[in-house]
Amino acid sequence: MHNSIVAIFFFVLGTVVGSFSNVLIWRLPKRKSILFPGSHCTNCGNKIKFFDNIPIISYIILGGKCRNCKSPISPRYPIIELTVGLAYLFSYLFYNPIEYMQIIRMIIIFPLFLAISWIDVEHRVIPDELTLSVAIVGIVLTPIVYGWQGLINSMIGAAAGALLFWIISVLGKIAFRKTAMGEGDIFLIAAIGLLTGWKGVLMVIFISALLGAIAGTIMIVLSKIYSRNHKETDTSIPFAPFLCAATIIVIICGEKLLQYYLGLFI
Ligand SMILES: [Zn+2]
Repeated sequence: MHNSIVAIFFFVLGTVVGSFSNVLIWRLPKRKSILFPGSHCTNCGNKIKFFDNIPIISYIILGGKCRNCKSPISPRYPIIELTVGLAYLFSYLFYNPIEYMQIIRMIIIFPLFLAISWIDVEHRVIPDELTLSVAIVGIVLTPIVYGWQGLINSMIGAAAGALLFWIISVLGKIAFRKTAMGEGDIFLIAAIGLLTGWKGVLMVIFISALLGAIAGTIMIVLSKIYSRNHKETDTSIPFAPFLCAATIIVIICGEKLLQYYLGLFI
């Protein structure tokens, strides 16, 4: 049975983890230590006191400004905190509490995926530390959830995902004479393969391509509408957000989607 006190606990835990995701998003692309120094204002360097560092609430109380220098704090902070908080709440409510390993897996990978996606959109890189963390979650949790057979399935998933993306990147280079698929994407799909196994990774690739195509079409239409005011901009789109979103979809309802899809033909 779900308990409302536990539900609130999951939400609050999510906002605290979201606060740490913000640290990753800010510091990892700049190659700064994620532990030292403690939280400080990125404008004036003032150390942020613990009571000004409460997720979401402090941002509202401070009116989105640093207490010391009054420079605006990025709305990214409360947005990420709220997003992870809601994801944790959803993870708890969605699964039966008996399936606690599924909940643990989801609450570990969600903030990692969020950081990967945000950093890829902002900087067009995927930090290896984050991809490696996803891979470790896959290697450690898969045998616990699915047994040793699951681990073999994971290894095949990682190899299949990496191989497919590597082929796409080679073909892309030949066809378009530019890098269509970065090294970061290849590492990420291998790590995702460890989480989902081979069937899962194929579904992730299919769904992410679909999501990417939809987003790409919307972007082309929008850029046509606004093209009078804008110069030719970089039309390549970061792929990690689609891979991460597709992986979450596959973890939540991959089995059902597969049955539905196969049911169309049989
Ligand atoms: Zn400041």
